[in-house]
Formats: sequence, structure tokens, C-alpha cells
Amino acid sequence: MTVRTRFAPSPTGFLHLGGARTALYSWAYARRFGGTFILRIEDTDVERSTPEAVQAIIDGMAWLGLQHDEGPFYQMRHMDRYREVIQKMLDEGTAYYCYSSAEEVEAMRERQRAAGEKWRYDGTWRPEPGKTLPPIPAGRQPVVRFKNALTGDVTWNDLVKGPITISNEEMDDLIIARSDGTPTYNFCVVVDDWDMKITHVIRGDDHVNNTPRQINILRALGATLPQYAHLPMILGADGEKLSKRHGAVSVMDYPEQGYLPEAVLNYLARLGWSHGDDEIFSMEQFCEWFDLDHLSKSAAQFNMEKMAWLNNHYIRQADDARLEKLVLPFLQRDGAKLEDAPALQPVIALLKERVNTIAELADAAMLFYRDPQPEAALLSQHLNDASRAALADYLQQCKAVEWNREALSAVMKGVLSSHKLKMPQLAMPLRLVLTGQLQTPSIDAVVHLLGRETVLARLQKYI
Ligand code: GLU
Repeated sequence: MTVRTRFAPSPTGFLHLGGARTALYSWAYARRFGGTFILRIEDTDVERSTPEAVQAIIDGMAWLGLQHDEGPFYQMRHMDRYREVIQKMLDEGTAYYCYSSAEEVEAMRERQRAAGEKWRYDGTWRPEPGKTLPPIPAGRQPVVRFKNALTGDVTWNDLVKGPITISNEEMDDLIIARSDGTPTYNFCVVVDDWDMKITHVIRGDDHVNNTPRQINILRALGATLPQYAHLPMILGADGEKLSKRHGAVSVMDYPEQGYLPEAVLNYLARLGWSHGDDEIFSMEQFCEWFDLDHLSKSAAQFNMEKMAWLNNHYIRQADDARLEKLVLPFLQRDGAKLEDAPALQPVIALLKERVNTIAELADAAMLFYRDPQPEAALLSQHLNDASRAALADYLQQCKAVEWNREALSAVMKGVLSSHKLKMPQLAMPLRLVLTGQLQTPSIDAVVHLLGRETVLARLQKYI
């Protein structure tokens, strides 16, 4: 058997972390077994589906690098096929026309509610051997219902949740085509899973209730059943449903915030699946390890700090040329003056250890790409006769020194000792006049990267 998995989002909003994790697991499972991963856009809810949401899914998947092997398929383009299967089911008697009007169905509902019963279509139009159906009301367009078994039950061995059994009595004769002929959600999923020869349906556990219905229809069609793995949901850091404040943002917000795709993927891989204590691993490694036996049975909890920690790891690993490309748009947005300024890559090399996102990297790098505007109050606090004299001496020596960190460090030490000052007494004013701020990476590194000309010009103003 060749593994065939699919990711089947409804394009009604952005692709969020939950969807991305489902996609990741489906993708990785196919990769693990040399199978095929299919992208299917479930766009039959025409009121709620939008082209922007389709694009957001495609962009999100591309950014994460979850390449599909087939598709994207759009359900709206499969209408003829759905109609054909509905006709086949009508012909074979596994589905039937139901002429009950909306009002009649509502009245049915009311009666059942009053009697304290669970809602169930009462079977008025359900054909049975020897049963005479009512006369067809003139001019009424019927819906098509699936003829669900009345007794017995449906059992499947869910690959996450274990065996699940649902009694057919719990299930209704599902509408598979509306009165305007359009097929309904569960039906389209079934036909596509069947046609696409899906072997493993990996999806969120909000679909568990659909599964027995889908299995019954698949059986009625004589289809081979896929296996099902229903993933527990992702909760927000507060233990509640994932909310905007806790991770329920579009996947495409993560590059905006300066996350690397490998950090998000690594984070999602571990969010609901484990391989011993391994926390940091590549997607290549993940695809070798991934199985459905080590999926967590309980809901996962989103943890922003952990994702930031992973992002820091991958930023440190990333090469500076790649980071340069990523940080540039952030710097441009912040109004960085990139001309006649230090080269970006050495600045990145200096700063990348300590940042969690590319946005933070840009913030830290701005130090080198704007004119310093030290606050007057800070200047008067840190500049006095002693420090000015030391700065003047430092300036003088900077004119001739060989421009590298070791030599600059020696200059600094020499000035400190001849002026009998402690490190902060020179380093703080130096930071202030060179960068406008008191917190910077090592002052020698900053001086070195700023370059001789800039350092001399900035010092000159204060002496
Ligand atoms: N279209 C469904 C959703 O976005 C998923 C259906 C499925 O995976 O079977 O929730």
C-alpha cells in the first residue's frame, strides 16, 4: 500500500497553527513512507470561502515548505463528479429523495424537542420494502438523503484515540444534496477521499463526529476505508481555546514577527507528538521519525516562550547572508540609514545570539543605522571633565590605531589606566555619544563595527 494523505482546509479564514500542524503531520507521514501528500481546498461553502483565504493557505504552506505532491484540488471544480455519485447512490437505493419541506422538518424538530427526543429525520420519505411513499408535492425540489442503517453500529480504530464505536441509532439520514442540487460537506469529503485514494485521514478531532457518517457513506459506495487519526486540539497558553492573543494568528504573521519557518515547524512537530526527549530536530529528521503511535492523546498547550526559544536556536544556526535578507525589510521599515554605515553581516554575527526573532535582531541592529541622539540628561550625567578628557585621549589614539578589536581593546585599557578610571566611567559615555544608548554589545565590538570615520566624527562633537 502506498500512503496517500491529504490536507483539506476550508478557505474561510487564515491558516492558523492548528491547521498548519495538521498539514505538517499529513505531509510528514507521506514523506516517511515515500507516499503522496495532497492539498485539497474545501471551498464548497461559497458564502464563507474567499480567494484571499485560499491564497493565505497556499502562501502559508509555501512558507513552511510543506510541498504537496498533488493538487491543489478545488472541490468546487468537482461538482459533476459529486452529482454523478449522488445519482449512482439514488440508482442503487443507498440514497433517496426527500420532499419534506423546511417547515415540515422544523415541525418535526419541535415535536421531538417537546418529547425530549434527540433530533432525527423521521423517515417520511425513506423507502422501505412494502412501504408506500406519500404523493410527491407539486413543484417541490427534493433534497437527497443518505439511507443510513437504522441498527448496528460503526467502529473504527482511531490511530490517536483508539477504538471508537457509534451506534447507527445516533445517526440521521444525512442530507447529501440540498434542494438546489449542491452536495453537502460530509459527502464531498467522502467522494474526494475515495477518488483520491486517501489511505490516512489525519485531521483535527473536531471532525470525530463526522467520521461514522463518512464511513457509512464510503461503505455504501463500496470504497476501501482510510484509516483515521484525529488530533487533539491546541489550547492557548491560558488553557482555553486558542485565541488571538495566544497563537491563533495566521501562519503568515510569524514571518511578519520574525520567526523562521524551521522554528515554527519544529515547534509544531513537538506540539502533540514526541520522540523521547528530543526537542530540536530538523524536518529531515522528523520525517524519518514521524509515526502515528507517538501522538499525544490529550490537548496540546501553546507556549510562546518555547517557540521563541526554538526561534533563537535557529537564528543562531542560520548563516548571516540568509539573516541579512530577512532582516533588511525590518530595518527599512524602521527607517534604517544603510548607506555609509557598517556592513550588515558582521552586525548580525555580533547580535544574533541574543535575539529571539528577526524583528528583535532589527531592533538591536538599529544601533548601527541611525544617528545617535543621546538624551541631554544622560549626557550631563555621564559627561564630566574627567570623562571628557578620557574621551579626547581615546579619540586621539583612535586616529592611528590599527582597526581591529584587539587593538581597540588595548587603546581602551591604556586610556583607563592613564586616566585612573574604571571601565564604566569610560565605556558608558562612549556608548552614549557613539550610539545614543547605554546598553550595547561589547563596546570594542561596537566601535570596531561603526568604523573609524564614524567614531571620530561622533566623538568630536562632545570634546
Ligand atoms: N475542511 C475541513 C476543515 O477545514 C477538514 C476536513 C477533513 O480534513 O476531513 O476543517
